[in-house]
Amino acid sequence: MDLRLLLPSLIPSSQSVYVLVFYFVYLAVAGEILPGKVIRGVVLSDGSQLRYRCNGLLALTMLVTILGVSAKLGVLSPLVVADRGLELLSATFIFCVLVTLVLYITGRNSSDKSSSLKPHISGNLVHDWWFGIQLNPQFMSIDLKFFFVRAGMMGWLLINLSILAKSFQDGSLSQSMILYQIFCALYILDYFVHEEYMTSTWDIIAERLGFMLVFGDLLWIPFTFSIQGWWLLHNKVELTAPAIVANCFVFLIGYMVFRGANKQKHIFKKNPKTPIWGKPPVVVGGKLLASGYWGIARHCNYLGDLMLALSFSLPCGISSPVPYFYPIYLLILLIWRERRDEERCAEKYKEIWAEYLRLVPYRILPYVY
Ligand code: NDP
Repeated sequence: MDLRLLLPSLIPSSQSVYVLVFYFVYLAVAGEILPGKVIRGVVLSDGSQLRYRCNGLLALTMLVTILGVSAKLGVLSPLVVADRGLELLSATFIFCVLVTLVLYITGRNSSDKSSSLKPHISGNLVHDWWFGIQLNPQFMSIDLKFFFVRAGMMGWLLINLSILAKSFQDGSLSQSMILYQIFCALYILDYFVHEEYMTSTWDIIAERLGFMLVFGDLLWIPFTFSIQGWWLLHNKVELTAPAIVANCFVFLIGYMVFRGANKQKHIFKKNPKTPIWGKPPVVVGGKLLASGYWGIARHCNYLGDLMLALSFSLPCGISSPVPYFYPIYLLILLIWRERRDEERCAEKYKEIWAEYLRLVPYRILPYVY
């Protein structure tokens, strides 16, 4: 790419700033006023529990409808994101830096003693800014961690839809693009259908809100998970019928394992007596599930997610490694995360965890890892 063209497109225009502001304001208002199931988060170390209103699916449906109608009426171009991808990316990056500096300063100055807002300060500025100081900082009663992950997941779909509109417009719409779009849309919609499961994930319960998480949610998820779409805009791939069928299988099996494992754990945490695959659950020390997917590997949910990630890239064929950025990144991330999670669980559950390791020896992929 010509650097003389690239550099100006990285400077955020006022329009890209308006797009971001509109998006965040919409999400803040919709999140507050739209109805949705209110879920209690995990019990924090001081005994408190946060409440999350899971109305993401409604907020997303309304947003897509508003944008669709605006595009139909000619008020808004559906290509606004696809045409301004780099500008939006750099505007989002600047926002991430600014918001995390504010989080750093307010976190440092906080005298709150609750688990959510208690400051965790190492004294190393870069470390504290990167990993965050507070567990669950809020802005105008909005839980920022839950808000940012929602913004990132919806942003991914909006970028994809704009890419789809662009491929319609320039006549490059292909089977590969359709497959990629369908798989990602199903994954994102499924995420919002099960948004309440997010409240018990590692990010929400264990990570503090710093640059790492804000950048990951707002920039990394929407802009890098859509690389396959951007790539397909400029590259033509011919898929054979068996390749399409195989790709659909990878998606379906990945989905079954991913959703099934996360659901089993979620249900088990709510009621440890609920049958798993029609049988009473195998429980270690009254706390850990060792049957169903959790009896096959200790992080079967990661295996499902990796298969899904692969299914999003397979429509691009194998001529270039670029569309495989997401599955490769996810493999590295989930192996690292699994190690950190195991350390945390070993410390938390002690001999119960050791017994679980004995019963379920595989980490992610049975007989391999
Ligand atoms: P998990 O949902 O696997 O949660 C791990 C926690 O679950 C542990 O800390 C422990 O918490 C509990 N746990 C572990 N084993 C058991 C067991 N056998 N029985 C009962 N509880 C258990 O991890 P994540 O939050 O990392 O991931 C959630 C989903 O999000 C995954 O499907 C993952 O693939 C996906 N993800 C996707 C990413 C992406 O970029 N696409 C990035 C990160 C995650 P406790 O102390 O509460 O018991």
